[in-house]
Amino acid sequence: MNFETPEWIANQLAKIQQFVDQKLIPIEKEIIFADFFEIEQRLKGLREEVKTMGLWAPHIPEEIGGCGKSLMQLGLISEVLGQSPLGHYTFGCQAPDAGNIELLHKFGSAEQKVQWMQPLANGNIRSCFGMTEPDTAGSNPTLLEATAVLDNGEWVLNGKKWFTSSADGAQFCIAMVVTGPDEAKHQRASMIIVPTDNPGYQFVRNISIMGEAGSGYYSHAEIAFNNCRVPEANLIGEVGSGFALAQERLGPGRIHHCMRWLGICRRSLNEMISYVKTRKITSSKTLADMQAIQHWIAESAAEIEAARTLVLQTAWKIENIGFESAKNDVSMIKYHTANVMQRVIDKALQSLGGLGMTDDKILAYFYRHERAARIYDGPDEVHKMVVARNLIKKST
Ligand SMILES: Cc1cc2nc3c(=O)[nH]c(=O)nc-3n(C[C@H](O)[C@H](O)[C@H](O)COP(=O)(O)OP(=O)(O)OC[C@H]3O[C@@H](n4cnc5c(N)ncnc54)[C@H](O)[C@@H]3O)c2cc1C
Repeated sequence: MNFETPEWIANQLAKIQQFVDQKLIPIEKEIIFADFFEIEQRLKGLREEVKTMGLWAPHIPEEIGGCGKSLMQLGLISEVLGQSPLGHYTFGCQAPDAGNIELLHKFGSAEQKVQWMQPLANGNIRSCFGMTEPDTAGSNPTLLEATAVLDNGEWVLNGKKWFTSSADGAQFCIAMVVTGPDEAKHQRASMIIVPTDNPGYQFVRNISIMGEAGSGYYSHAEIAFNNCRVPEANLIGEVGSGFALAQERLGPGRIHHCMRWLGICRRSLNEMISYVKTRKITSSKTLADMQAIQHWIAESAAEIEAARTLVLQTAWKIENIGFESAKNDVSMIKYHTANVMQRVIDKALQSLGGLGMTDDKILAYFYRHERAARIYDGPDEVHKMVVARNLIKKST
């Protein structure tokens, strides 16, 4: 077993850390509450700088403009970028675009790659992914109701979606819709590209989440398809392959998320430590001298390290043995890391007292935005069910 980070990766991580510390963290407060369009303008120059540094889009191959990192290396980069809410967007590897690029690169047609994937990979357009619906359980996508029917060489889509992240400003949506209602449950749905300027595509609203609607580059929208007609060629992959593609999309995506969350944990722990070291609680003692606070720091540090090891081990398994062998691990890291993050942010926020609740510090922002980690990409309970069922099945 070798836990060393090769020198060239360590050097790149140090460069990225310096960029996050010097160029992103100082401007965060001014822009994280702006809408996406303003953020896009404000970060344009820095995104170009990242390109000239050769660090743009670490998740995608060099031939389409990325820097082609392995899953493990991407995980390590994601951890550094996760320390700032601006990190992933500035480096061109933000969800849901990252997953959509990977999906189109693997399964898109030559035309789809030229028209949609390449401008997305270059950072010139944005995209969204519409699977979850208001009227069916997102936890069980085999129940999806939105449909697409083939008519005269066009797919005609009808139905509603919500929690479509980044729909505000997106040029296209990858919609997961039912194309074979009578097929076996995992062959009922397909993925279809829907340009957002299509007259049958309706942007209904940005949903207010934890008191914020449409701010930051992660707005979450309700959208609708009303007899929305798109060319037959907008289908990604085969008819009925929606679930298989969704698995492909979400597997690596969960590693990126987990490592990003660990970056948030690190930043939160650092915020906690720097506050308690200087906050005098008596004439001679600071908060750092209090045992309760010391326990929070020690518990958080151990939880972060343990989660990190589990996530990196899962990335290693996916890369070296294959995704199939790591399915259980992917479920395990999803709920485990999301809960570690929630506990670490909570302890950090508590240790800053009233200041922790304000937007003068980043902790309240993390607290609001990252609660969703236990819900999206499969709620805790669903992943726990998968892990427990597999363990029970395996036991003799
Ligand atoms: C911030 C945010 C961003 C999102 N972005 C996107 C996006 O870009 N695209 C997209 O398509 N979707 C997105 N989603 C939707 C997300 O994937 C769904 O919310 C999630 O899959 C849960 O579906 P649901 O909301 O319909 O909850 P439901 O399926 O109604 O479940 C409700 C709750 O029931 C519990 N539960 C569910 N199943 C079980 C079970 N088997 N056993 C025990 N308990 C269970 C869980 O606690 C769950 O939270 C996003 C959600 C959020 C909050």
